[in-house]
Amino acid sequence: MKALVYEGVGQRHWKDKSHPGIEKPTDAIVRLTHTTICGTDLHILKGDVPAVEAGRTLGHEGIGIIEEVGDSVSSLKPGDQVLVSCITSCGHCDYCKQGMYAHCRDGGWILGHKIDGTQAEFVRIPHADNSLYRLPPGLDPAAALMLSDILPTGHEIGALNGEVKLGDTVAIIGAGPIGLAALLTSRFYSPARIIMIDPDENRLAVARQLGATDTVSTDPVEAIMKLTDGDGVDVAMEAVGIPESFDTCQRILRPGGKLANIGVHGRSVELRLEDLWIKNVTVRTGLVNTNTIPVLMRFLEAGGIDAQSLITHRFALNEIEQAYDVFSRAAAEKAIKVLLTA
Ligand SMILES: [Zn+2]
Ligand SMILES: [Zn+2]
Repeated sequence: MKALVYEGVGQRHWKDKSHPGIEKPTDAIVRLTHTTICGTDLHILKGDVPAVEAGRTLGHEGIGIIEEVGDSVSSLKPGDQVLVSCITSCGHCDYCKQGMYAHCRDGGWILGHKIDGTQAEFVRIPHADNSLYRLPPGLDPAAALMLSDILPTGHEIGALNGEVKLGDTVAIIGAGPIGLAALLTSRFYSPARIIMIDPDENRLAVARQLGATDTVSTDPVEAIMKLTDGDGVDVAMEAVGIPESFDTCQRILRPGGKLANIGVHGRSVELRLEDLWIKNVTVRTGLVNTNTIPVLMRFLEAGGIDAQSLITHRFALNEIEQAYDVFSRAAAEKAIKVLLTA
């Protein structure tokens, strides 16, 4: 079979790799029909995630058809169409029992990281019963693919950690795929305003289509204070992963505000605790658990999330090197999510 293989910093190739097989009775082998590229894959290529060794197949998002299951897989069978969660979870360790699948003692984020991932013709999924979700008939698999990572991340680490509620003013710094997913899923909780901040006017236009009430491209702190009559916002979400955008979040919160950090930070940030404590501000962080996939899938099935709008580019799976070229120039190419289909 073929797979997109990481071969050291800056190097990835679509090449032959041996077909995965069942290694443990809880495994399933999935033939991928849909996959995509995540910003995290670009971080890996830059060498920011040293745990990824040369020879690793990248990718942690996918939809496919089950080809084979191990003897103890009970809820899935060959031929089932399934969504692959970016988080693998056993379902019975102490963390899994608390719903903290991200910290599963025999899983977590391992696909395309510590084991071979989903940018391939076939993938082995450990703990298949808990890590794969059967697709309801009629659900567009391209839209459902957004449930592997970005929609649960935006929902759990953005909307839920930010405790978005009826009437809130929410600011989201970063209108990339994750920021837009946070926008879509925050709308479940009916905030009065969602202000999107990004220097890229094209992404802000997409944000307005998806329900942003206000957009800001420059001087975010001044602009948000002006928009809120000097009060600041109830919820600030960081969806970039750099010190500057975290700093914007901590400067725009009103008393009692919530800061939900979604971005993946490679550098330390300055915490303005001297200003935050007296404002009763809450700061939350996290890695997605994906335990809200089932509820998000019901919304998608009912047409409550416009997930298709996030897909800007389509390629055949064997054109994945070209898709990486496009995605790595996302601003110039006006790319949000690239869809690869087999
Ligand atoms: Zn991802
Ligand atoms: Zn577990």
